[in-house]
Amino acid sequence: MTMIQVDGLHKSFGELSVLRGVSLEIKKNQVVAIIGPSGSGKSTLLRSLIHLEQVNGGSIRIGDDYLVRDGAYGSGTEIKRMTARMGMVFQHFHLFPHLTVRGNLELAPRHAARKQETADVRRNSLELLQKVGLSDKAEVYPSRLSGGQKQRVAIARALMMKPELLLFDEPTSALDPELTGEVLKVIRELALERMTMVIVTHEMSFAREVADQIIFMDKGEVIETGTPGELFGNPQQARTRAFLGLA
Ligand code: ADP
Ligand code: MG
Repeated sequence: MTMIQVDGLHKSFGELSVLRGVSLEIKKNQVVAIIGPSGSGKSTLLRSLIHLEQVNGGSIRIGDDYLVRDGAYGSGTEIKRMTARMGMVFQHFHLFPHLTVRGNLELAPRHAARKQETADVRRNSLELLQKVGLSDKAEVYPSRLSGGQKQRVAIARALMMKPELLLFDEPTSALDPELTGEVLKVIRELALERMTMVIVTHEMSFAREVADQIIFMDKGEVIETGTPGELFGNPQQARTRAFLGLA
């Protein structure tokens, strides 16, 4: 079952064409890893999926609804309804520094259009902190946490809104190497629960292990798509081989 269908996506920043006809499919309950050189448009693509960027052309269909169809967006209410189905985790965590860990988790659900009960929000936040191994940090401020702990809070926060799809933009790139493992472990557990995820990453061995589908992007285009076995084991395109150091 298709969760997201992207067709012919175009995005420019002024003169700079960053996405040049990107098409891809994200299936429900699958993990898609996006790899590619810096500047190839990976972040812009993720940000477009959750409407942090507005595209100039092409379509994004989420389930049965179009976020954007042939470059035309629906109403703000429609856009909100669709982006509410997704959560995003950023390279630099983006936690609210003035709120405790629990405050970070509970802010959005308390303010959501359909308000969740306070008791439910609290129970949910404590459960999710346990899930990411941070039960003891609920009342601590982000400045007191390591990078790995911050990122685990960011993942728990994204899960609070019960997203159908989680987007990760280089979730371990800002971390010291010894802290990446604890974040990858959480993502790996979500994959085992069949959470639908799109992960932009430079961690090739992790992508290979956890992803059902790998997308290689270069210069605003999808160059090659395949299973990890196909893409890492037998890349068809010269640019893919060069990126993987196989050329
Ligand atoms: P990646 O995530 O693959 O490194 P990005 O999507 O971040 O690539 O960026 C693709 C290109 O778009 C880069 O050349 C980058 O400098 C440019 N870019 C990204 N965001 C903006 C922006 N807000 N304004 C202008 N240029 C941008
Ligand atoms: Mg990026």
